[in-house]
Amino acid sequence: MGNDNWPVCQACGVGSLLPLSDFGGQGAPIHYKAWVCSKPECGFNIKIRNGDVYLNEPIASGAAHSPRPR
Ligand SMILES: [Zn+2]
Repeated sequence: MGNDNWPVCQACGVGSLLPLSDFGGQGAPIHYKAWVCSKPECGFNIKIRNGDVYLNEPIASGAAHSPRPR
């Protein structure tokens, strides 16, 4: 806590949108490539790839061993 600089998630109004960075094909850092809600239950995310904006893509959390209950 203590970081109020991130915009509030407009999807749930509770979480914060956290900027995520990635690395390009040449190893060049791509800052703020994606924004993801900090609230796991929300899962709102937006990212840009090749100039196109992608909204609410499924998140590959790497936790395939813990399926989320529905
Ligand atoms: Zn949210």
